Amino acid sequence: MIKKIEHLGIAVESIKESLPVFESLLDSKSYKTEIVESEFVKTAFIHIGESKIELVEATHQNSAIAKFLNKHRSGFHHLAFDVDNIEEEITRLESEGFKFIHSSPKQGADNKRIAFLHPKSTNGILIELCQEI
Ligand code: ZN
Repeated sequence: MIKKIEHLGIAVESIKESLPVFESLLDSKSYKTEIVESEFVKTAFIHIGESKIELVEATHQNSAIAKFLNKHRSGFHHLAFDVDNIEEEITRLESEGFKFIHSSPKQGADNKRIAFLHPKSTNGILIELCQEI
């Protein structure tokens, strides 16, 4: 079951430059900054009510975020839903015809198991499922 919007992912050139802007905008300090080696990204999370904003910066030119920033400017990158059972949601969504970038969950930032749907099956919107570990 999809429970709520867990976070919105924003691609940024520099967390160091962007984080203070979001912290003062939201009047909330980031509670975590983390490097996700497998994705070549650095992330910073800020609470906004029950949801979060995730700033994502590339740590390597092969990162999907670096490729995104080469095409677009910094901005909205992905929408993440909190799910109670990620395997069940992957199975349900695949049976509805959705495609996944990786159809078995992997370790993501902020103590989550994650799976990204392929934007080709969601009208161009990158969607992440995440389940708290
Ligand atoms: Zn995310």
